[in-house]
Amino acid sequence: MIIDAHAHIFPDKIAQKATDGISAFYGGLKIGYDGTLGALIEEGTAAGVDRFIVQSVATVPSQVRAINDFISESVRKYPDKLIGFGALHPDFDDIAGETERIISLGLKGIKIHGDFQQFFVDDEFAYPIYEAAEGRLPILFHVGDERYDFSSPERLLRVVKRFPGLTVIAAHLAGWSMWDKGVELFEHSGVYADCSSSLYAMSPEHAAELIRRIGADRVMWGTDYPMWGAAKELERFDKLPLSDREKQMILSGNALRLLGES
Ligand SMILES: [Zn+2]
Repeated sequence: MIIDAHAHIFPDKIAQKATDGISAFYGGLKIGYDGTLGALIEEGTAAGVDRFIVQSVATVPSQVRAINDFISESVRKYPDKLIGFGALHPDFDDIAGETERIISLGLKGIKIHGDFQQFFVDDEFAYPIYEAAEGRLPILFHVGDERYDFSSPERLLRVVKRFPGLTVIAAHLAGWSMWDKGVELFEHSGVYADCSSSLYAMSPEHAAELIRRIGADRVMWGTDYPMWGAAKELERFDKLPLSDREKQMILSGNALRLLGES
């Protein structure tokens, strides 16, 4: 089984605008896909992906409820294929209440992106999110960007220490564009990570080394759709000098365990 543990989806009406916004944020980086749910499922299924963890970032608090409704409607359309993560924003007025709603909608985690949401992830102002999620829902954190300090691996490490009962998924091998730093801080720390938007930037040997330092039993494969597609990311992943057992854990075993399905 193959699970894409990191996919962003947007309602069809705004997908193009959202995708253009991500491209602009990353300096005009070419985005491979249009950000719709249809294209994710079509491309991923053709490449052999069985299930997708889908999420969307609330860049302003007023988007939180609409995103959670959209993600849960998407999961209802494709219950066998999609696992939904909800959105929260530190400025949202009822974080505890919305966390309960996220759980009652059947969503399995929360997505946080300090750089898009423009808050330091270790700021006390964000603690209500971590308090609400601790022991209940994993949080998928975007981690790292050499241009900003909001989502740095150092800040995430402070959150991990302050909230020991929180299940943390550190995206992009715990430090996009600063992979060695991220892995140094989270080496065998027990946090989960994903290897989305990372393999393109390093040799297969280096990627395998970083994955093993975090722990092959902790890292999940993902595309960061619409940034990348499954066919290309699986091609990159196949080149890593890892054992078949390690690859199987990264492609699905770790995600299933994290989600409580194995
Ligand atoms: Zn993401």
